[in-house]
Amino acid sequence: MTSTVITGIGELVTCDGTGAERLGVQHDAAVVVDDDRVVWVGSAAQAPAADEAIDVAGRAVVPGFVDSHSHLVYAGDRSAEFAARMAGEAYDGGGIGVSVTATRAADDQELARLVGARVAELRAQGTTTVEIKSGYGLTVDDEVRALRIAREFTAETTFLGAHVVPADYQDDRDGYLDLVTGPMLAAAAPYARWIDVFCEPGSPHAFDGDESRRVLLAGRSAGLGLRVHGNQLGPGPGVQLAVELGAASVDHCTSLSPADVAALVDAAEVTTATLLPGVEFSTRSPYPDAAGLLAAGVSVALATDCNPGTCNSSSMPFMIALAVREMGLTPAQALYAATVGSARSLRRTDIGRIAVGARADLTLLDAPSHLHLAYRPGVPLARALDLPAP
Ligand SMILES: [Zn+2]
Repeated sequence: MTSTVITGIGELVTCDGTGAERLGVQHDAAVVVDDDRVVWVGSAAQAPAADEAIDVAGRAVVPGFVDSHSHLVYAGDRSAEFAARMAGEAYDGGGIGVSVTATRAADDQELARLVGARVAELRAQGTTTVEIKSGYGLTVDDEVRALRIAREFTAETTFLGAHVVPADYQDDRDGYLDLVTGPMLAAAAPYARWIDVFCEPGSPHAFDGDESRRVLLAGRSAGLGLRVHGNQLGPGPGVQLAVELGAASVDHCTSLSPADVAALVDAAEVTTATLLPGVEFSTRSPYPDAAGLLAAGVSVALATDCNPGTCNSSSMPFMIALAVREMGLTPAQALYAATVGSARSLRRTDIGRIAVGARADLTLLDAPSHLHLAYRPGVPLARALDLPAP
């Protein structure tokens, strides 16, 4: 056991306050951690002694960001597709097949190296927990391999065999669903905490409401928690399905009807709406009304959706800046959604806040205040704090 006292904190944001003060901002504060847990939070003048000390020289300290939606297990490059989209071509989900081909062709060692580099890139920008999905394998062996590699880096792994119908099953959707809900699920479940489905009836590559229900019910029977990609490209059944089945999260929520919002309000204790503004940025699409959702009482999270097609950004600070500039959140609301909100979407209370008993996941800002995350977009202010080895 090695305890460390962190002092010199210019502004401590615990995200563990209550009511209007839920950001829990403290000045002249110190934090003591013991191995991987926070054991004390309070006034620097009263901080107990510890084995080690770190003086952060006036920087702000916030909870490590929780990125609850990523697709980090892939090979290949789709920057040309991005350029084409910026030149006016429409996105319909079809480019995923390009990543599937490249990912299948990569060997295990190369794929693990790529994922490790991406996780390090997230951490260097302040993210301390990341959820990682499969979904670029789409065969039994390739999906299991993706989850096995993802599990080396996070406990939050998600089976996304129902990402798209792969080219080899284009004329046999039912056959692919039989595979995903049968042998593929059985092989993948030991390596996954969650199951997800790309529910988007408007895309010929993704799945409609009935197909998505089949995938989610099979996953639930296999003991997995539920997540849904829904209502991204247009109106659809994703949100209603997620709420009905008690999913932990429905992600994108770009195109919502009043009935969808009402359902999310009623389900706020169970189902979080995870917004992915990097996707709207990178596909030049209208942003969801995050401020309206929060005002209505929806549980809102922010994540990157880091993936090779529709948002190749691993930066939670960038998502916070977008949420403030483009979706109407205050800097405080955006930071809360990127920490506590995302943790809630993973049904976790040990991350996303700085409190006694929580994980010692702290992020330093080269700034005096959390306001700088949105005030100085694109500036590399945030990094995860590395603690002395136990
Ligand atoms: Zn996604």
